[in-house]
Amino acid sequence: MIDNYNFAGKKAIIRVDFNVPLGAQYEVTDDTRIRGALPTIKKVLGDGGSAILMSHLGRPKSGPEEKFSLKHVIPNLSGHLGVDIQFADDCMGKQAAEKSAALKPGQVLLLENLRFYTAENKVSTDEEKAATRVFAEKLSTYADVYVNDAFGTAHRAHASTAVIADFFADDSKMFGFLINKEIKAMDKVLHHSDKPMTAIMGGAKVSDKIQVIENLLDKVDNLIIGGGMTYTFIKARGGEIGNSLCEEDKLDVANELVKKAEAKGVKLILPVDQVLADTFDNEAHTELAPIDQGKAGYMGLDIGAKSVEALTQVIMDSKTILWNGPMGVFEMPSFQKGTVSIAKAIAESTAQGCFSLVGGGDSVAAVNKFGLADKVSYVSTGGGAMLEYIEGKVLPGIKAIRG
Ligand code: AMP
Repeated sequence: MIDNYNFAGKKAIIRVDFNVPLGAQYEVTDDTRIRGALPTIKKVLGDGGSAILMSHLGRPKSGPEEKFSLKHVIPNLSGHLGVDIQFADDCMGKQAAEKSAALKPGQVLLLENLRFYTAENKVSTDEEKAATRVFAEKLSTYADVYVNDAFGTAHRAHASTAVIADFFADDSKMFGFLINKEIKAMDKVLHHSDKPMTAIMGGAKVSDKIQVIENLLDKVDNLIIGGGMTYTFIKARGGEIGNSLCEEDKLDVANELVKKAEAKGVKLILPVDQVLADTFDNEAHTELAPIDQGKAGYMGLDIGAKSVEALTQVIMDSKTILWNGPMGVFEMPSFQKGTVSIAKAIAESTAQGCFSLVGGGDSVAAVNKFGLADKVSYVSTGGGAMLEYIEGKVLPGIKAIRG
């Protein structure tokens, strides 16, 4: 809808995701999210509309905090847009209402961090929900049109991500280009994938990803498990894991997932070897070992060369790939090889025509760290939101607009 909408003469309030990392001088250290919002903002301005931008930044406890002020993003944003950015230092204050009322076509107003008000995101009790509605309604009065382009918070039923949509007519609320792109990429993987399709799930915990894995079993041909969660599967089938990460209370779940995969004809692929370390440290003494031959005092912190070889083959043979979570403790150079190799294999497979979607904070950090972000088909901006979408959940931010 945003493609066909003409913003001329309209004020659009846009929920963007400017939750960016800041350095010691409060400078933006990674502006990926800001760049992600630019196409939508430029469309509004290009049509002859004006943009009121709202976002959260960090996790303020209650009330304003300098380190979470959105004013820190202004130099970066204004550099990208080539226009001056007006700022309202209180998203609920008189100034915010006056500045938005006075906004002219082509102008941009940024509101201060929404989460300086707990009404933005505290929505547990009835009282809190009522406060959130009031807060959302007030925000809605600033503009003629509501655009949600913050995919990273689409799984939250917050004032600016969902509730505010109630105060706009159906033809005056829409997704921005970024959310549209995210939905398209996820739907391609989930509903229109070319086969064979492979999901690669890594990271620390099985418990975080059980639902995702279950839902994926209906979609994929291969399910690769890597990273810390491997060891719960290995222990469940009787392997020795030494001091590796393990969720003892999820052993049954792991066995069940293996059985379900078998029943559905999905190849569940675990690493065959590992890099063992005597401490959780980059300088640790390391040894290579088969995956089910860990030993006391040692923990597996990366997958080994044989695993890389086997997984690379599966990846190269795939036509669709979904990757979430690293293969090892990639933050430490001694244990990054498995994750780098898998990332490179995905990039290579993509070059041969495979569609690859990478999502989840740590795998995104990994492709960025290794300079491979533009060599995969799509990098999702929302880890939690993407996982919930893949779990099959309805995201409040999406439902608020789609109905
Ligand atoms: P998650 O947030 O669940 O995707 O987990 C990501 C984290 O898992 C990263 O910080 C990795 O360092 C960590 N991780 C990956 N593999 C292992 C492992 N074998 N042992 C401990 N932590 C791991």
